[in-house]
Amino acid sequence: MSNRSIGLTDELYRYLLANSLREHALLAELRKVTAQRPDARMQIAPEQGQFMQLLVQLTGARRCLEIGVYTGYSALAVALALPEDGHVLACDIDAETTAIARDYWRRAGVESRIELRLAPALETLDQLLASGGADSYDFVFIDADKENYSEYYDRSLALLRQGGLIAVDNVLWNGRVADPAVNDLDTRAIRAFNRKLHWDASVSTSLVPVGDGLALARKL
Ligand code: SAH
Ligand code: CA
Repeated sequence: MSNRSIGLTDELYRYLLANSLREHALLAELRKVTAQRPDARMQIAPEQGQFMQLLVQLTGARRCLEIGVYTGYSALAVALALPEDGHVLACDIDAETTAIARDYWRRAGVESRIELRLAPALETLDQLLASGGADSYDFVFIDADKENYSEYYDRSLALLRQGGLIAVDNVLWNGRVADPAVNDLDTRAIRAFNRKLHWDASVSTSLVPVGDGLALARKL
């Protein structure tokens, strides 16, 4: 027994997957295809995708926002968990990886639920705010460039309805956030974001050690 979050050995992680993972066949295929790429570590873990599907369903989300699409795994997981009239606005700047994403969204039959905006996400978020999008989103997943995490969070909070949920990926940053010898820009940005979220009185929060660390913030 342990009264702290358990570390996962390879063996225990395999057990967890074998005894809990429910992965759509096209999510599994996308994970295989993406694994061939040198940057495949950017993709979320499959158990994290399943956890986010549960969060989406718990919040009754219909309007979702994703910041950082890559080859489309997280957006596909979220879209598959949405009701028929659900929608994901997906932000990225990479035409090549998002072409793979689009292919899988189409094959999974959810392409009408996902709208891709190929532009720097801050621009897209500012456009949404300028066109009356405040207080209208149910669920936001932040997983793009780490230097902008705090900016993405502020704008996402404004776009979120009361009771809506923001999930922020990579907040444990493979342990580097806790290593005083590491002080690169990305690590510092994630530390700054974690500090900011810790005592943000406008949300309730939890830092869940799933995947690379997933911070949750529910707008009060
Ligand atoms: N959520 C994805 C992984 C995202 S990886 C998954 O589950 O697979 C991070 C992504 O952020 C990359 O695709 C990168 O192109 C994108 N990105 C980086 N800077 C960005 C910016 N300024 N605006 C939007 N997207 C950005
Ligand atoms: Ca990530």
